[in-house]
Amino acid sequence: MYAMSTLSAVDLRTEYLVDPLAIARPTPRLMWRCASSTRGAVQTAYRIQAAGSPGDLTQEHNLLWDSGRIASSDTSAIWAGSTLGEFQDVRWRIQVWDEAGQVSAWSSAARFAMGPRSWSAASWISCPWSVSTNAPDFRRSFTTSRPVVDAKLHITARGIFSATLDGAAISDEVLAPGWTDYRQRLPYRSHDVTTLVAKPGEHVLAARLGEGWYKGPIGWEGQSQIWGGTTELLAILRLVHDDGSVTLVTTDGEWRVANSPVLASTFLRGELHDRGQARPGWDRPGFAATSWAAVRTKPIDAVPIEPHRAPPVRRLQEFTPVARWQIRPGVWILDLGQNIAGWVRLKVNAAAGTTIRLRHGEMVNPDRTLYVDNLRSALSTDYYTCAGSGVEEWEPQFTFHGFQYVEVSGWPGEPAGDAITGIAIGTDTPLTGAFNCSEPLLNQLYSNLVWTQRANYLEVPTDCPQRDERLGWTGDAQAFIRTGAWNADIASFFTKWHQDLRDAQSPDGIFPNIAPQIPGLGAQWGLSKGDVAWGDAGTVCPWTVWQVYDDRDQLADAYPAMVKWVNYLERTAQEGVHLRFHRDGQFIVFGDWLAVDCYTPQEVLMTAFFAHSTRLTAEAAEALGHTADATRLRTLHGKIRAAFIRAFVQPDGRVIGLRSPQATQTGQVLALHFNLLPDDLRAAATERLVELIAERDWHLSTGFVGLPYLLPVLSANGREDIAWRLLLTTTYPSWGYPITQGATTIWERWNGWKLGEGPADPGMNSYSHYSYGACGEWFFSDIAGIELLSPGFRRFRVRPRVNGPLTHATASHTCLHGLIRSAWKKEAGVLTWDVEVPVGTTAVIHVPTSHPASVRESGAPVTGAVTATEGFATLEVGAGIYHFTSTL
Ligand code: BGC
Repeated sequence: MYAMSTLSAVDLRTEYLVDPLAIARPTPRLMWRCASSTRGAVQTAYRIQAAGSPGDLTQEHNLLWDSGRIASSDTSAIWAGSTLGEFQDVRWRIQVWDEAGQVSAWSSAARFAMGPRSWSAASWISCPWSVSTNAPDFRRSFTTSRPVVDAKLHITARGIFSATLDGAAISDEVLAPGWTDYRQRLPYRSHDVTTLVAKPGEHVLAARLGEGWYKGPIGWEGQSQIWGGTTELLAILRLVHDDGSVTLVTTDGEWRVANSPVLASTFLRGELHDRGQARPGWDRPGFAATSWAAVRTKPIDAVPIEPHRAPPVRRLQEFTPVARWQIRPGVWILDLGQNIAGWVRLKVNAAAGTTIRLRHGEMVNPDRTLYVDNLRSALSTDYYTCAGSGVEEWEPQFTFHGFQYVEVSGWPGEPAGDAITGIAIGTDTPLTGAFNCSEPLLNQLYSNLVWTQRANYLEVPTDCPQRDERLGWTGDAQAFIRTGAWNADIASFFTKWHQDLRDAQSPDGIFPNIAPQIPGLGAQWGLSKGDVAWGDAGTVCPWTVWQVYDDRDQLADAYPAMVKWVNYLERTAQEGVHLRFHRDGQFIVFGDWLAVDCYTPQEVLMTAFFAHSTRLTAEAAEALGHTADATRLRTLHGKIRAAFIRAFVQPDGRVIGLRSPQATQTGQVLALHFNLLPDDLRAAATERLVELIAERDWHLSTGFVGLPYLLPVLSANGREDIAWRLLLTTTYPSWGYPITQGATTIWERWNGWKLGEGPADPGMNSYSHYSYGACGEWFFSDIAGIELLSPGFRRFRVRPRVNGPLTHATASHTCLHGLIRSAWKKEAGVLTWDVEVPVGTTAVIHVPTSHPASVRESGAPVTGAVTATEGFATLEVGAGIYHFTSTL
């Protein structure tokens, strides 16, 4: 009888996105994962079918692509069907063959579509009067005479918008269309709105337009209108009728505009909404817009309009306050229990004209009033004036705040029950990681770093969500990216940002400190010119995305810019000696930013990262087949390494600068991690590192630059004991200290707050800054022991560190191929360990044990080749769920 495969193809995505309706690549990559309960399962072949509609998928003669059976274990395929024209809608499905040659059932169908090739059918529309702060409402009424079977709205703005069709939201996206350097490109998205306009008759497409990044204030210098002073909207609504005819409704002179009840709204200041000025029904058919003005129109210009590559910003989670108290009569503080980026929804029943004020802060002062000094010039205050129409619900539309506490005043009575709900927003990168262990401190630390990521992966990787900054700082992004990639699928989020980085790269190859670049910001310090470890984001981030997601396409896109950066570093290095120095007046130097009472010489940092960027670019060259480049870069790397050793490495393993004989933790860590030491000095260099930690009474002194590698360096060099000690320390400075102070996110500074005393320097003191959360990598790579051995985890190692103070730990990560999981428990000298290995991958398993013969798997002695290596029994396995036990 015909046997069906136990494999099934799941999680179908196109360019990492679930059913995206606009795709940048003319030949998109289709992606899937395989699931199976059979051990050793492998996909040996796949077949993709694609058609223009779900019905056509089963009609062979109507297919846009039938790949036929392709022998391959890859779980992504580049579109090779008929050329995809504009507006092409595609449904696709896949079947896969297992190792026994059995074929699976067809997967359920996924979808993608191509957006408009040209926007010339539409015009930019804007408000004809100067809207100094109002977020105007735009509406366009149109009538259809035939049913609509397919409707897609392609829409973007200069500013940010929320759009509706007949009063219903066109999507759950917020802060659309997102953020780029708008001078260079504008992102758009496409939405299926068929159900909203299916019936013939009058319909209304409407949008409210806020300032957002485009026009609102950005950064700490009080600048606004960075990209322009007029917000504009651009849209094409394409309706396909039941007889195949097509109607386009575009932004044109037929649109009408009026001021909205959003009297003002910007990211930094907050939103001002007067419900009393609302015009009920304005966004629906049947509304008499007779007093509304005609819009101003402007033809489309040369700035490219491109599909947004990353998932949208969405509401991610709601928080009900965990505590509420009154600080003055009528002034309440509500504690959400979690520091987030987002806003609150309020539900109130009050007389017309009642104004409720909401102030947002990350902390409360010792007297329990709201602490806002660290927001600097960001007012972060929303005002809502009631219409008096019974229970009113409201959320701001065009602002967000970084906060855990809300100060509510003007409320009629007590804001109890569901009066206030916190709403966390962020780019909706699918979560792929989880961690839990026997030590509550580490569980809290893990939660804190995930929430800091969620609050700061918001359109671009930002430094913080609260003060007048919220910028795409490149140094922070590269410090945290490896941890970020354990926690969530960030491939497309970073691929999009890599373009922002390249848009900001100078013609001579300098990557920026901030991307998207803010023209003019910090000009006096040369902020556009990337500092050591900041500019290196241009190599570190694309290299990391390649490693984690086996994504060579984005690497190929990034590669020329990576080479330009390395060439720039080489050109500006000390001639002939391959060392890099900071030259006076060159530009600002962040150094090992926020290191505690410690200075690591610039030349050490700069030369170390020169070597690092060169090596990563050499590896990229090899992966992409640029052999000549690879040879050149490898040779260059060898020279930098030799120069580093000659100039900075002492015979006793200390790494010091040319003018400062003092070694630092960061100097030791970089030399060890980037392999800038003679092999016979690694042990000595590690000892010196440990001495430097001991000198500080077992505390760390690394800043943003050295910290990400501190724990991996210690454990990789035989000092796991010190890594544990640092990780579990709770006195300042340490990861544990902020947790003793109640932190629910990672702080910018170790000493951000002292219980009973209050804040450190409010001038620069964010409580949601992810760089120090880069320790999260170690939770996966060492505590659970999952380490990739080849790009995309096709081959990986699992070697947990069970000899530390924990009694159990579990981590999981959904990689390109499926779920990897490592869950261990120690009890009475016996280890129980479950490992999950996804289809199509192999894992080198290191079972911790002092008696290799004691190792059992699902109760039976392990079979096959098992080798015993210091403290481990090692074997290689394919897909499956394994249950090991061993004597420790
Ligand atoms: C930001 C950082 C950033 C730094 C540059 C700060 O204001 O918040 O995280 O990397 O400046 O040193």
